[in-house]
Amino acid sequence: MKSISLLKALEWLHLGQDAFINAIFAASRVIQTKTINTIFPMVALMKLVVLLGDGMADLPLAALQGKTPLQAAKKPNMDLLAKQGKSGLAQTVPEGFPPGSDVANLCVMGYLPARHYSGRAPLEAAAIGVLLGEADIAFRCNFVTIEGGIMKDYSAGHITSEEGRELIEALQPLMPERRLYAGVSYRNLLVLKAGAKALCTPPHDISDQPVAEHLPSGPDSELLIGLMEAARPVLARHPVNKRRIGAGKRPANAIWLWGQGPAPVMPSFSEKYGLKGAMISAVDLLKGIGRYAGLEVIDVPGATGTIDTNYEGKVQATLEALKRCDFVYLHIEAPDEAGHEGNTLLKVRAVELFDERVVGPVVEGLKKSREDWRVLLLPDHATPISIKTHSRDPVPFTIAGKGIEPDEVESFDEAAAQQGGYGQVEATKLVGMMMK
Ligand SMILES: [Zn+2]
Repeated sequence: MKSISLLKALEWLHLGQDAFINAIFAASRVIQTKTINTIFPMVALMKLVVLLGDGMADLPLAALQGKTPLQAAKKPNMDLLAKQGKSGLAQTVPEGFPPGSDVANLCVMGYLPARHYSGRAPLEAAAIGVLLGEADIAFRCNFVTIEGGIMKDYSAGHITSEEGRELIEALQPLMPERRLYAGVSYRNLLVLKAGAKALCTPPHDISDQPVAEHLPSGPDSELLIGLMEAARPVLARHPVNKRRIGAGKRPANAIWLWGQGPAPVMPSFSEKYGLKGAMISAVDLLKGIGRYAGLEVIDVPGATGTIDTNYEGKVQATLEALKRCDFVYLHIEAPDEAGHEGNTLLKVRAVELFDERVVGPVVEGLKKSREDWRVLLLPDHATPISIKTHSRDPVPFTIAGKGIEPDEVESFDEAAAQQGGYGQVEATKLVGMMMK
């Protein structure tokens, strides 16, 4: 009877049952994470959302009259966050690490790559539910097209997943322990008990170059080269490839092993920050980081990683997740893809869609929720149109929401953020800054 009357009282206060349950959870976490909450006293009271537009940052472009895509895009919602919040520049790629999305996103979540990064493939393994044992080393196994000893295509003509599965089936008997897993399109996974220290090159870094100079080298490289060689005759005579050649498509005539590592050892996000969180992304890499960080990884139907992704579904999933979590990491891939394609107008459009269909509705949803909230808006790294790949430049960021004192910055872009009140910071500090 007592609890019913308490619920009634809360209803009367317009709080509702979700708020009641959240309050109970928040209260229990305050007790469980007493030390953390001494450092971050606001942790149990806030809803925290990271809005991450992959590769959004760029350099000034002549085609945009000297503006960057962020400066050229119409993005009233991001600009409003910058105006009401506090901005700065974040270094998301530490010295000595390549500017990959894996390293950059680990940093944004507060994990030091030097301590917690063990390679790209183990993160992707987690995303597709492949558990790695202690001695296991996960490799990315690309289908590629090699012609005349030249790396013609790191994606084997973006081979379909169905075709890929048939080829993986045919290659399986060649692999020790038969632990070859078909992924999406050309991206597969191989688990071995060796090869952690071999030097392997990403195939997208050697387009149109002779492969002989970039084969695996160092410890266990004979094993890796042996597997790559053994696959070639099986792939050459496979009907899937004969059909592809017949249709004028690039055959998957080789496999390429790279990105390897053992399972990373990471404290969970809740151990680190005392926060219960969720990850929303179309990309396996991000889902994998989410799994190792102990976040709830939410699959949104129609999330594609392209400009046609299901924005509304992702926003909906974010707002739903915030009813049971304190923290959501919402990742949108499209601006990065446009950067890799070197397509200026597509990148501007991707930024505008992120603003209109993600940033705007999420902030609106937060305002309606009657919870206190803070948002961290940023890219993980720049993907400048001029180089069609990631760069190490520090990225603009804004933190806005309850209790954040605004600075003078009025626009969300690379130049404006230089004047931001936070100055230049290391990205691993950002989640902590959101909580202070
Ligand atoms: Zn990225």
